[in-house]
Amino acid sequence: MKHLIFTALFLLSYTVAVRAQIVFPTPNQVEMQTGNLILGKKVSMYAEDTTAFYLNLFREEVLSHTPIKWQKKESKADICWITDSSLPPEGYRIKIHPQQMVISASDKGGFTYAVQTLRQWVAGSAGSITFACASVTDYPRTQWRCFLLDSGRQFQKITTIRKYIDMASLLKMNYFHWHLTEGLGWRIEIKQYPHLTRTGGSVGKGEEQQGFYTQEEIRDIIEYARQRNITIVPEIDMPGHAEAALSAYPELGCFGLPVEIPQSGFTQNIFCAGKDGTLRFLKNVLDEVCALFPSPYIHLGGDEAPKGNWDQCPDCRKRITTEGLKDSHDLQLWFSAQMANYLKSKGRKAIFWGDVVYHDGYPLPDNTVIQWWNYRGHKDLALRNAVKHHYPVICSSNYYTVSELPRHPVERIYGSTYVRLERCLSEQPFRQSHQREKSADTWHELRIMDRRRSHGTNDRPTPFPPHPRSVRTDVARGGSA
Ligand SMILES: [Zn+2]
Repeated sequence: MKHLIFTALFLLSYTVAVRAQIVFPTPNQVEMQTGNLILGKKVSMYAEDTTAFYLNLFREEVLSHTPIKWQKKESKADICWITDSSLPPEGYRIKIHPQQMVISASDKGGFTYAVQTLRQWVAGSAGSITFACASVTDYPRTQWRCFLLDSGRQFQKITTIRKYIDMASLLKMNYFHWHLTEGLGWRIEIKQYPHLTRTGGSVGKGEEQQGFYTQEEIRDIIEYARQRNITIVPEIDMPGHAEAALSAYPELGCFGLPVEIPQSGFTQNIFCAGKDGTLRFLKNVLDEVCALFPSPYIHLGGDEAPKGNWDQCPDCRKRITTEGLKDSHDLQLWFSAQMANYLKSKGRKAIFWGDVVYHDGYPLPDNTVIQWWNYRGHKDLALRNAVKHHYPVICSSNYYTVSELPRHPVERIYGSTYVRLERCLSEQPFRQSHQREKSADTWHELRIMDRRRSHGTNDRPTPFPPHPRSVRTDVARGGSA
């Protein structure tokens, strides 16, 4: 009996504690107050714009589809949505009193994140919805809060991608870096070159490596993400990781020959930088990519591009001579500059993996952003070189911010793969002035498939990492990650 009482008390205290601190990432400021706001079977709301997308999200995810009655006066509403331009971008404030809740933000991002906080704060179900009284103020510490999904090596269903977008928005991330092309698969429909997906979408051997996304499906995903304050940054990797594209159009390579598809890693078969036709092809692809994706940023890859073929190719060697370049790495800088300039002409910024700036050489234009990743291979070389040239830097070093699941096989390679979020956020170079952006990358070189990825996320999205309570105190210092 004594044990039963202790157990009951423990469970009770656990429930109270969870309700009081379930929001993750921990908001900047939470002041608990006494009492609860208890809503009935109909909720009255006031909003300046009753058609805003975040109100739908609120009704679906927080109110469990409870009917809403719109009020014209704030004082008569259970819940008020008020624009407050004094709050920072993507920031919000929630004040919950026993009679009313007031949600303030200066923009749609802030209101969306207020909804995501309330998804975690709400208790009860349809017919009886309760919010513990509190005052919550929150705003993000970094402008770029991104997650990467590798759809090149493994093809994920649309439902899986939606689930990931939903989880990322719950964690108040604002960019989704979508890795759409790989040696193992070209996943984005390009109408001008149908063989990219017809052939390149099925070069992998596994069942879950077959497939591609139509432009219509991609438009739907872009809209789904937009309604959760997430901008999708598409990645078209060039010149490397191109075997799937080269299997569809071998003439884009240096020697015009059929290529071998690597089941892991990458090969010497990259896009030829010497042939004008290859450059024209890639620019035509970018035309369709830019028409689809409204993102100000387009990722052009640039990682892991071995130069064996370029060093032998007559066209590439000729390009090096005619452009007065030093060597084949300088040719990659020249090639990257052509593509970045093309994006510049369309008013977009070009993101490159850090490999592009391992050496100095041909100058990149001023719309260049560098994504530093390979800490394990090259320490902070790309970071230092990017800062030297005043390129903004996205930090996704593979020391702290890469999650390659499943954990056990990876542990044998890398030692540990737990994403230690507190280390990710406090990583030393993060304090450097140019390196102010963060990204969490989920690579699938180790065969992460739909069935594994969706494990544990069948019902409501679960915060990631799976045990947010364990990192709460570390994250609390920085607010939203
Ligand atoms: Zn070539």
